[in-house]
Amino acid sequence: MSGILVVQQAGRNRISFEALAFGRRLAELTGLPVETAAVGDPNETIFVETSGPQIPTSHAVRHPLLEQYTSDGYVIAFEQLIRKLDPAYVVFPHTYQSRDFVPRLATRFSQVLISDITAIEAGPVFIRQLFQGKLTGAYRHQGGGPCFLSIQAGAFPADPPQAGKTTILTFEPAISASDIRTVPSEPFRGSSQTVDLGSAPLIVSVGRGIKEAENLPLVQDLATALGAELAASRPICDNGWLPMERQVGSSGQTVAPKLYLAVGISGAIQHLVGMKASQCIVAINKDPDAPIFEVADYGIVGDLFEVVPALTEAIKAAKQ
Ligand SMILES: Cc1cc2nc3c(=O)[nH]c(=O)nc-3n(C[C@H](O)[C@H](O)[C@H](O)COP(=O)(O)OP(=O)(O)OC[C@H]3O[C@@H](n4cnc5c(N)ncnc54)[C@H](O)[C@@H]3O)c2cc1C
Repeated sequence: MSGILVVQQAGRNRISFEALAFGRRLAELTGLPVETAAVGDPNETIFVETSGPQIPTSHAVRHPLLEQYTSDGYVIAFEQLIRKLDPAYVVFPHTYQSRDFVPRLATRFSQVLISDITAIEAGPVFIRQLFQGKLTGAYRHQGGGPCFLSIQAGAFPADPPQAGKTTILTFEPAISASDIRTVPSEPFRGSSQTVDLGSAPLIVSVGRGIKEAENLPLVQDLATALGAELAASRPICDNGWLPMERQVGSSGQTVAPKLYLAVGISGAIQHLVGMKASQCIVAINKDPDAPIFEVADYGIVGDLFEVVPALTEAIKAAKQ
């Protein structure tokens, strides 16, 4: 058993490159070589862009029954590829797709998926958050392999592609139509980007602490007073209180403003990965143990219904 296989997802290039950055870090710690694989034509951007001197070989997994994603098809195809290559580690970006099929793929090898990894330490030891960030778990793989891992978006900054030659080998798994039991429907789409939060210098972001849509003007007033864009955590957008394009996080936009003011947001990892690169983070939360305070430069422990109007008034007064 040897090597690290990083499985990439065409069309999800940023997080695929992040998984590759993790693969390289794992290679440094273990001394094992890295290979990549993805479903698709060898001319797909994902193969071209991940060519480089550190990746001698990439595997283009091709079959007509893989043109539309099904967990059945992907489990069969990757089981065959992994049995052929016999890697010690198999790394995936933590996407909806990998969440869907990789746990079942892992059980084919009597393994589990260590999912949502946010850090790696010597050992190798893999770090992930538990219970909405209230606990951190450290995992070490023991016994037979391979070890299946998925990487949280934003946790490992993607390396820029480097010039170099990678040999792309085509792998054609044996799949028959009767193996595919699922009928795929329209794939889930993340938020579109008609509001460009990515270039906003000031952002006020609201979370479930606001309790009801009727209370949103409170936070909108603060954003207006500051001249900031309004953003939100996922439950706010899922409820339809604000449009999806204002969602920040792993399935929303990634932002890095000068100021990110988080109001009533707990700081789940999926939210943090979208905003932790902000230059100054201010958090208002009534729970002193909320994980958002771990990334905040300034924390206000208090009831947002008292703090936000007072802050708005103070900003208006300061601007007069
Ligand atoms: C695959 C996947 C993708 C995801 N993608 C995203 C994503 O892109 N973005 C995202 O945000 N989430 C995402 N999530 C959801 C994420 O896991 C959390 O559920 C979500 O971020 C929680 O939102 P929240 O902080 O607003 O709510 P909660 O976790 O419910 O936190 C509300 C906070 O408000 C505080 N509060 C309550 N009342 C008050 C008050 N009166 N005054 C002050 N503070 C108060 C509470 O103490 C609490 O900390 C994703 C989840 C999954 C599984």
